[in-house]
Amino acid sequence: MNHYLQYCKPSLSSALMSIGLDKTYHRAQGQYLYYKDSHGGEKAVLDLLGGYGAVLLGHNDPALKQRAIELLQADTPMHHQFSIRSGAGGLAEKLQPLLKKETGWPDDFRCAYTSTGAESVEIAIKHSEMIRGHKLDLLSQQSERALEQAALAWEQGEEVSLSLSEEQTQAHPTLQGASRDKLLAYIRDYNANVLQQPPVFIALNHAFHGKLTTSIQLTHGAMYRQPFRRLGLRTEFASIAQLDALCRGEEAWIALPELLLPKKTKSGWQLAGVPVPRVAAVLAEPVQGEGGVYVLTESDAEVLHRVRDKLGCPLIADEVQSGSGRCGSLLAGSQIGLKPDYVVLSKALGAGLSKLGVVAIRSGQYADGFDILQSSTFAEDEMSCQLAAAYLDRLFEEEGRVLAKVRDLGELLLGALKGLHHRYPDVIKDIRGKGLLLGIEFHSQENAPAHLIRTSAYQGALGYLLTGHLLNEYGIRVAPPASAGSVLRIEPTILLTQPQIDELLYALDRVCLAMRYQDTGFLMHFLVHDEPHPTREPKDFRSWYSTLGLDVDYSMPADSKVAFVNHLISSDWLRQVDASLQHWTDAQCDELVRRFAFDKRVAPFAPVRIRSTQGQSVDFVLYPINATSQQISEQLEGSQLEPLRHAIDERLAAAKADGCTHAGLGMFTSIVMNNGKAAQTAGISLTTGNALTIAMAHEALLNAAEQRGEPCKTAAVIGAAGNIGSVYSLLAAEHCQQLILVGSGRQGSEKRLLKVAYQTYQAAWETLLSEGLSGRGIASALRPHKEAIAARLQATSGRAVGETIFDWCQEHLADAPVRVSTDLGAVSLADTVICASNASDAFIDIGTIQQNAIVCDIAVPHNLSDSALQERPDIRCIRGGIVQTPHSESLDPRVRAYLDEGQIYACMAETVVLGMEQYPTHYSYGNLSKAQVKWIAQRAREHGMTLGSVKVSESM
Ligand code: PMP
Repeated sequence: MNHYLQYCKPSLSSALMSIGLDKTYHRAQGQYLYYKDSHGGEKAVLDLLGGYGAVLLGHNDPALKQRAIELLQADTPMHHQFSIRSGAGGLAEKLQPLLKKETGWPDDFRCAYTSTGAESVEIAIKHSEMIRGHKLDLLSQQSERALEQAALAWEQGEEVSLSLSEEQTQAHPTLQGASRDKLLAYIRDYNANVLQQPPVFIALNHAFHGKLTTSIQLTHGAMYRQPFRRLGLRTEFASIAQLDALCRGEEAWIALPELLLPKKTKSGWQLAGVPVPRVAAVLAEPVQGEGGVYVLTESDAEVLHRVRDKLGCPLIADEVQSGSGRCGSLLAGSQIGLKPDYVVLSKALGAGLSKLGVVAIRSGQYADGFDILQSSTFAEDEMSCQLAAAYLDRLFEEEGRVLAKVRDLGELLLGALKGLHHRYPDVIKDIRGKGLLLGIEFHSQENAPAHLIRTSAYQGALGYLLTGHLLNEYGIRVAPPASAGSVLRIEPTILLTQPQIDELLYALDRVCLAMRYQDTGFLMHFLVHDEPHPTREPKDFRSWYSTLGLDVDYSMPADSKVAFVNHLISSDWLRQVDASLQHWTDAQCDELVRRFAFDKRVAPFAPVRIRSTQGQSVDFVLYPINATSQQISEQLEGSQLEPLRHAIDERLAAAKADGCTHAGLGMFTSIVMNNGKAAQTAGISLTTGNALTIAMAHEALLNAAEQRGEPCKTAAVIGAAGNIGSVYSLLAAEHCQQLILVGSGRQGSEKRLLKVAYQTYQAAWETLLSEGLSGRGIASALRPHKEAIAARLQATSGRAVGETIFDWCQEHLADAPVRVSTDLGAVSLADTVICASNASDAFIDIGTIQQNAIVCDIAVPHNLSDSALQERPDIRCIRGGIVQTPHSESLDPRVRAYLDEGQIYACMAETVVLGMEQYPTHYSYGNLSKAQVKWIAQRAREHGMTLGSVKVSESM
């Protein structure tokens, strides 16, 4: 497993691990796959996935295995390319009557061999373009001849004039009154251009035709196709209804060009339009497997025939998954009367033992010489062809007993699943399929009350979660199709028995009940417990969700929408989010978070609409990432920020796509994103929310001082050299007589502290000059020395004001109003301590803090721990401002953390205010200024957001 993770599929392996699918199967027999559990015991898994359709008769079918052994024992040549290959010929011969019968064509079929499904599709594509190319070559010659004849006629004196239709005049204005040479040159160029156009292929919505560079462009699922869209092949995806409309001429969604040919008629020279084959082929899977198990009908087949005729191109039936007996006949298409020109087979045709694909092309449509152009080292190998022939014999022996069994079993299973649908119409949306290719589509859980279930759906992973549950709890293997995350695909072997159908139904019944009841704990139990609990009953949590009051319906859109990126404080908070996890231990919650770390996207919570007292409304939406404070701080310490940054950027992009204009980087995400500057997402205004956090904390601090009955005299600012600390120092300087700026002592810290000290003096000086006697704080401390300082400033004019004052104070005052220190002991001199240091752990020694001091600790994580504070009830500690919303709007109770009704954190409120203001750009982004703090505080007040209760406990 580790080697697979390390050397082969790192991302997929992580995904498999996250949902308990990381099993290593060492043995396969019949309908069972076997793995060793953590105690070394062999566990059998009922395989209802059948090798994604490749195993119909059962794993390692004894008779076919015997045939393989015989072939090996007979020293059958494996690699004898460029010779007359009897296995390939024999298999093709065996296919002839079967294909003729099932397609209804009398023609022979030419067979081209490959090793995989996608390769086979690509060969079909290549062949169809060769056919189109021949037609284009003929048209090119026809064009040249027509032009030559016109030139000759005009050369011989015929009048040079072309009568054009109205449409032609419009489309080709150059032709109007053009000279002979110009006419000919124009038509020649135009035709050459039309003939040069690349082919277009038509595939159906939900199509899956492979993942190679060409076939991937025929696969509808955008996730697989989009990254490779520049590679070329042009595909139009359409529904059957759109194809029908195209045939009827009601919709012209595909441009069909025409060649222009000058032609002499009785009424003179005209320009004939000759259709050019633009579409090289139409592809269809009679039962779409990977797209979500969609079954084509007889009338769909008729539409496909009509579109083929209209476009003059071949119809390719991709029966890679649906064919070779999987749906109860060699071709699933034969059950709906489909008459394809090419048939593509693979998967089960390899008898579950070898890798083989075949493209069978009607001989009337075959491009001579294609077989010389196409070859592959492994194609036509004797072993695969012989095994496929033996497999076909099995399918059709005893008048097709095996195929009849597939049909009967399919009916039985389909009936049972429909019964389940009947019992759970609220959970199951549809049951579809044919033969032993069936699908269960679940209703979207994107609005599920249980947020973890909702998140699974949001990530397109619901089907995978259920797959993990079924495997680990019941030992049943199924999987969603490649492009349909809320569908479970069931592709059993023909060995399936009634008791096993009952087993499946029992397990699915529990799953449906748990989804109905929103019992996340039941569904996810397997992720955190070693032992399965197959007999436990799901519990009903619907009433818990209904008491949360989550069904708010905002029928009118808000004036704007803002996002806020947050994360878990710690994993045990999951119990708050989901009542079904109430009895989970901290370790189990941790394990769940760890499992889900693979995909950090958490579904956004429903918006909270906040209305300004001035009227504007803002929808406030949480876009969480799945990570805890501790996980993030570990990554911060280890400087492994890229995955987190990527996850946060993804949230920002999602918020933007959902129409959010502003996003707040909450909790640790602002640090991870370097105060917003590391974000890559454009087109959304960012803020850390720091400005209003400072403003509110500052207001709370002043209130606390008032309650204490003693104003702040000496404030120590820990981390004063930092972004937040420096602004805080400037604010504190407006109220305190003395300021001690404390820095870390790290390199450059003292220099940065001095810079802050200079700024503080300069601001105080400006206040003193403008406000005279009313200036408070450091300004009032400087007032007695105003004249002396002014004289010094005059004498040193040209030198920076702040620096000059600093020097003067150092020289003349025993106790300068602003001091810098790298000694934490300086805290003992302060009656007010402001903590704004960026440290991963609380580091302040509570013993150094004065009696009855006020501590304002807005650092994330905190500089002073809650446990230390418990020893000192005399200290009033403020953890940051909490904002009262204008009309008591509240966060979802599951994510309120330490907030009460009607409250949000100041950083959230800043994001809301920016939305209300439609602020045009980033706000608290990079370095902060005191002016920003003041501006946002003012705007918040105007919108009715005021300081709420003071947050006094630790929250991160
Ligand atoms: N076409 C269809 C209809 C398929 O289902 C698949 C595989 N699921 C392919 C093509 C591609 O086959 P392969 O994975 O062997 O390349």
